[in-house]
Amino acid sequence: MKSYSSARDEFKGEADVYLDANENPYPSPYNRYPDPLQKKVKEALGRYKKIAPENIFLGNGSDEAIDLLIRSFCEPNRDSILVVEPTYGMYAVCAAVNAVNIQSVALTSTFDIDLIATKKAINNTTKIVFLCSPNNPSGNLLDRDSILSILETFTGIVVVDEAYIDFATSESFISSLKNFQNLVVLQTFSKAWGLAGLRLGMCYASPEIIAILNKVKYPYNINIQTQTLALKALTNVEKKNAEVKQLIDEREKLTKALINLPQVENVFPSEANFVLVKVNNAKKIYTGLMNKGIIVRDRSSIPNCENCIRITIGTPEENQKLLATLKEI
Ligand SMILES: *Cc1c(COP(=O)(O)O)cnc(C)c1O
Repeated sequence: MKSYSSARDEFKGEADVYLDANENPYPSPYNRYPDPLQKKVKEALGRYKKIAPENIFLGNGSDEAIDLLIRSFCEPNRDSILVVEPTYGMYAVCAAVNAVNIQSVALTSTFDIDLIATKKAINNTTKIVFLCSPNNPSGNLLDRDSILSILETFTGIVVVDEAYIDFATSESFISSLKNFQNLVVLQTFSKAWGLAGLRLGMCYASPEIIAILNKVKYPYNINIQTQTLALKALTNVEKKNAEVKQLIDEREKLTKALINLPQVENVFPSEANFVLVKVNNAKKIYTGLMNKGIIVRDRSSIPNCENCIRITIGTPEENQKLLATLKEI
């Protein structure tokens, strides 16, 4: 398949007069199309992550990368993806939209990979295995050796979704890219970086996989404003790091306070910026909080998450308000 060749693909240098893309010539910050391959952002990100720009794909949120991976590697009405659940819902949604079959294997009671069941479920229709670590909604890291074992034995693509890696104690799988051609690592500017509204996600993989995603994507998938503001964020990594440190601090404090409340049965250990909390009556607590203007996520309808609510870590003031309100309910 040949990809669309845009004006900015065909002429990449600097010029005085651009009459090649049917743009409006009158100056504004946005009258020109953006760089289709986001060279400057990838160079800055590559320096920070210690990886070459050829190993980076940028998407309109990491959700775009999830969709593109499924569209690129799975044949509709024939192939499958495998998910280990409960997990992030978009893998299954993107598969369904693309008429790709979903194979689901349950995580263990501590939300870790059941390696034997997972390997048994993989068959010759399985093209992608999605592993989310730290996992959403449970918050824990998946066992590193189990992920490595799947990478070693499965010949298809293994996606490790690290949307919450900045809040975790473990090293990113980016450093394993040199060892596994089938590894894809997803990260995002939406969580730790505080830029969910911009929509910018990163996908790290072998240059061959990145080239395929670049072929399939829309030519100008990342707008000028997003590229500019992402570059700016990358010049101030200290801000992100300070906020992450504060949120981890708050997560530990909130966990200790929650566990002492009479309605709380368990707070699952978290390496993310949220905690999954098992309560005595999720519906009642969800509604009670909502009536006081505090919105959490009711996860009680999800398999293995009976009576569980997911609480995002807020500012110290927000977390105090949450605790005070829970005491009243
Ligand atoms: C929030 C989240 C994402 C979505 O990221 P965007 O970059 O905002 O599209 C991806 N994966 C997981 C597990 C998430 O929780």
